[in-house]
This record gives sequence, C-alpha cells and structure tokens, in this order.
Amino acid sequence: MKTLTGKDLAAAIRAQAQAEAAAGPQPRLAVVVATADEAGLWYVRSIAKAAAAVGIACDIVDLGPEAAPDQIGETLARLSAATDVHGVMLQTPLPAGASAQEPAAAIDPRKDVDGANPLSLGRLAAGLPAFPPATAAAVMALLDHYEVPLEGRRAVVVGRSTVVGKPVAHLLLDRHATVTVAHSRTRDLAAVTTQADVLIAAAGRAGLIGRDHVAPGAVVIDVGTNPTEDGGLTGDVDAAAVSDVAGALTPVPGGVGPVTTALLLRHTARAAGLP
Ligand code: NAP
Repeated sequence: MKTLTGKDLAAAIRAQAQAEAAAGPQPRLAVVVATADEAGLWYVRSIAKAAAAVGIACDIVDLGPEAAPDQIGETLARLSAATDVHGVMLQTPLPAGASAQEPAAAIDPRKDVDGANPLSLGRLAAGLPAFPPATAAAVMALLDHYEVPLEGRRAVVVGRSTVVGKPVAHLLLDRHATVTVAHSRTRDLAAVTTQADVLIAAAGRAGLIGRDHVAPGAVVIDVGTNPTEDGGLTGDVDAAAVSDVAGALTPVPGGVGPVTTALLLRHTARAAGLP
C-alpha cells in the first residue's frame, strides 16, 4: 500500500500562496472563534502561524464560547465589509450544537475562503466559481497530486456534512466520477464502500473503515481527525487493517490536514487578488 502524504504538496501550495501574497497588497485573513473546544483553538493558532510564515496577516477574533449566533453573524458581516480584510472564516464547531450555517451566511462570498456561506455550496453544486471548503479542496488536491484517475471511476464518500461530505461529492461529480454518498443511516456500509475505486472517509469515527470496507487496490483518503487518549490524532480508517488490501491511503496526521491549511492560505491570497 502506498502512503499518500500531504507534506510536500502542502509546502508547494504554501509557496504558491506566498508568491501570490507578495504580488499585491498584504492579504488579511480574519478567523472568528466562538468556542472553548481545545482542538478548534489549536487549529486556529496553527492557521495564524502558517499565515505569518507566508506573509498573510491573520486576526483571530475570539467572541468566547457564550457568543450568540446573532453576534457571530454581525461580526462576520462587519469583517466582510472591511476593505483591508480579504478572507473571513468561522471556526466550528460552535458551542452547544449551534448551527454555523445561519451566521456563515453573513460572510461575503468573495471573502468566503473556507466555503462556509451556504451560497458558496450552492454555487459549487451549480458548477459556478466559488471557494470550496478548504478540506474538500484538499481531498481533490491530494487526488490530483497523486494522479488518481477520477473520470468514470466509482467514488464513495462516507459523510454528508456541508463542510466535507457534500462539497467533496460535488467536486468529484464535476470530475466525472460516479459518486455515492454514505452516512449514518446507510445500511451495510461495507457493501457500499467496497464498490469504490476511490473512497473518501469523512465520518469522524475512529477506525470506522476496516479491511472489509475496502476493495482491493482502492485509493482511500482519510479525512477523519479523531482525538486519541494520548493526545494525538487518528483517522476514520484502520490503517493497519487495510494495509494489505488498499492500493493507497493518506496518513492521519500528515495527509489531508496540512493540505487543508495550505489551501486556506492560498484561497486568502487569491481573494486578495480579486478585482
Ligand atoms: P460531521 O459534521 O460530524 O459529519 C459526519 C458525517 O459522517 C455525517 O454525515 C454522519 O452521518 C456520518 N457518519 C457518522 N457516523 C457514521 C457511521 N457510523 N457510518 C457512516 N457515516 C457516519 O463531521 P465533519 O465536520 O464532516 O467532519 C468529519 C471528520 O473530518 C471529523 O473527524 C473531522 O474532525 C474531520 N475534519 C478534518 C479536517 C481536516 O482538515 N483534516 C477538516 C474538517 C473536518 P449523518 O449525516 O447521518 O449524521
């Protein structure tokens, strides 16, 4: 089984972002945070650090875990209206299961660098230009980097969230794959996933995808990031179990994650370059 790491690809994308950022006015990304979720806060800090390294300013706007959806929406609208802010992102999850979709509708689609405004998903589904969520774009970037053929191939996406599963399914359809989306109500998941030439695991369930879920030679992209007891991360795929059946697998950590952050920066540099 080949391991499809994201490290080199992420470095190449960061270099592109840096070159694009240097070509115009300094891009600025604003990240709105309304959570006490440690993993989410860690991710936001890592974005700010990566942004600084490529010449992109990053403001973290922390509203605290008690922020009401209206306040979050107003903040996103204010940042969207600021001429010196080029990218606006809302870190999820929001507290107490609040939906991010209503407040995210306040993000100007031209600054929606993480594809969170429902308009961006609609445009993506319609085949119109839009920033896809960075994670969904990272899945596609990895498939392209490793020259995985998609046209006419069977792709199965496990997960139907608006941030990963649905946009990935649309992007795969655009590339002429035959796409099936599975979710928690799917009966006999293994019967569905073993149909896949390309399997995208985005359920957020550690080890959900085992040996019986993978067809011989399939390319498996593991989007899952599940915390482990020792403070690390593990994917949705049981890597050891699938190693003698899958053709290729992205590692967790070190696969989709670094590419996601790099693409968020490139989206921001591109948003700054929009006329
Ligand atoms: P989410 O909103 O919780 O959605 C999970 C999806 O998986 C849902 O559609 C759910 O089905 C489905 N699902 C849950 N259990 C399942 C099961 N046993 N069998 C089949 N489907 C099942 O999560 P998300 O935001 O899409 O994130 C998914 C994973 O990706 C998480 O681990 C998250 O941490 C990770 N992630 C990684 C990155 C990165 O950069 N690497 C970025 C974003 C997210 P229902 O719709 O029926 O509930």
